[in-house]
Amino acid sequence: MIEVVTGVLGGFAVGAIATAIVWRWVVRRSLGRAQAAERRARAAERLAEVGAMTGGLAHEIKNPLSTIGLNAQLLQESIEELAINPDERGRLARRLGTLRREVDRLRGILTDFLEFAGELRLERKPADVRALVEELADFFHPQAAQHGVRLRLDLGADGAQVAEIDAAHVKQALLNLLLNAVQAMSAGGDPSRPKELMLRVRPRQDADGSSMVAVHVIDTGPGIAPETLRSLFKPYFTTKSGGTGLGLPTARRIVEAHGGRLDVHTEVGRGTDFAILVPAAPARPARAE
Ligand code: ADP
Repeated sequence: MIEVVTGVLGGFAVGAIATAIVWRWVVRRSLGRAQAAERRARAAERLAEVGAMTGGLAHEIKNPLSTIGLNAQLLQESIEELAINPDERGRLARRLGTLRREVDRLRGILTDFLEFAGELRLERKPADVRALVEELADFFHPQAAQHGVRLRLDLGADGAQVAEIDAAHVKQALLNLLLNAVQAMSAGGDPSRPKELMLRVRPRQDADGSSMVAVHVIDTGPGIAPETLRSLFKPYFTTKSGGTGLGLPTARRIVEAHGGRLDVHTEVGRGTDFAILVPAAPARPARAE
């Protein structure tokens, strides 16, 4: 009898200890999770603060830079009228020219930075993506021709491809892709292959059933090597001597802010296809007669 009672009590004791251990583990784990979530929230807050500060700083630097650039330009004009030795005048003009170029370069860096890291305020309206691409092609045609690139347009079947977008921002994202494509074809690629740039618009049904509008920017450039592909969207990653490395991250930011995505397919030695996909606007219900 005593043995049975001891056994039962022993069982209870073991059970109680096990429950206590499990409870401690559960409490510790939830505490750990709460602390980790708090840490993440603090880090996100700090990141947002730093983002706002750097954006503000870039704006603050940009304004005096404009003044410096303008004054350098005025000085350069005044030097032309100075009654001094022409050699001396030439030297001064060259120095001011360097100053102006560097000011322009800094302004360019800040503009790119603000586009990537600054506040992105979208004004979305239903727009026909085909019409937008057609307009952009008209605008970009001379620039492509200047680099010996043939720009072609493939708008697909008739009918509007409507999406709710901020047209100016989507154009900016597409322009970044077009510029990259032209630069890639000018810098590398097989010289025996024609330099062709295709802008193609297509409706796309995603695997989850959502309707998208895709705009492809397809080039016949050198393609992208796997090691470059891994870093392609990292801010400040560039393989160009004068590149900022912000074109693709900015394009992706814009597209993702629209609930879309930026796809890339590439084949070394053949070319690259970047595609901007944005959700198609739901078809409007037919109006009752
Ligand atoms: P940047 O143009 O200033 O270098 P991007 O972020 O736009 O910055 O591009 C990053 C890098 O991606 C480029 O330096 C280039 O190596 C590569 N890249 C982008 N587009 C293409 C393309 N169409 N073909 C080949 N390489 C490309």
